[in-house]
Amino acid sequence: MEYFEFYDRDPGLQDIRIAFLNAVEDFHEKRDFTSNFLQVANELEISIRASCEEDSGEEGRAFTLNGQRIILLKSVRSAKRRVFTAWHELSHHLFEILSDGDFRAFLDDLTYGHPDWRNSCEEELCFESAALLLMPTHVVNSVTEENGFSPISVFVLSKKTGASYSAAMRRLIRRKSIDSHGVLMRPDGQVLDSFQYGGKRGKYCVGSGFKLESSHPLLSSPFHPLKTERFAASVPFKGGNRKWMSKCMAAVDQEEDRVVAFFVDDYPVDNKDQLSLF
Ligand SMILES: [Zn+2]
Repeated sequence: MEYFEFYDRDPGLQDIRIAFLNAVEDFHEKRDFTSNFLQVANELEISIRASCEEDSGEEGRAFTLNGQRIILLKSVRSAKRRVFTAWHELSHHLFEILSDGDFRAFLDDLTYGHPDWRNSCEEELCFESAALLLMPTHVVNSVTEENGFSPISVFVLSKKTGASYSAAMRRLIRRKSIDSHGVLMRPDGQVLDSFQYGGKRGKYCVGSGFKLESSHPLLSSPFHPLKTERFAASVPFKGGNRKWMSKCMAAVDQEEDRVVAFFVDDYPVDNKDQLSLF
């Protein structure tokens, strides 16, 4: 029970989330924040096997069979996705193992009779846990101290940790807890992924798999390589209205052929380029 500080009520989802993520960070710290996935899996006696389920959409699976903990990993093209999936599946086992199974037991109680809800809660927790394991907090902090809350930090974090731009974008937004729409696209305007965070913005999903019109500032503004550009722009939405004008910070990584953009209410004040003005 060491991760739950109260005994007078059953923990809610947010209590379980915070407690589990703390336990994951403690677990990782005790192993010097290793990025050696196989070493951790070995220590936990988890057997890693290649998945042959070629038609299933899942890139990995975690389960226990006859007492043996197992992770199945599909061979996917992107090494970055594979490593994230591996930590994600390991997180499912950690969810059972850490704190002697408290997390799973409390979640089972909370979601009793609603297995779909239960599974989607655990999925979300394991995505967050994988992000912590792949991008430890002290690494995220050192990147943002250098580059602020900016698309450049996404590029740097990805290069330092091997996380994808999608994963690094989510990790950075959650860590800094800044209301924003994050958009990952190709320089030609094809939106590949997006993430929404915060009270108001969290309700509106940008979506993915659509192309921006060529007049959008993300396409019409000049970009300098690896420099954050700032301009006003409407938040793009897949098939939705575009009336929401917002402040936008965007940068291009030409080597990777990717643009990352953050739509925010206000430009963050922790960025170095602003501080150095004074
Ligand atoms: Zn999962």
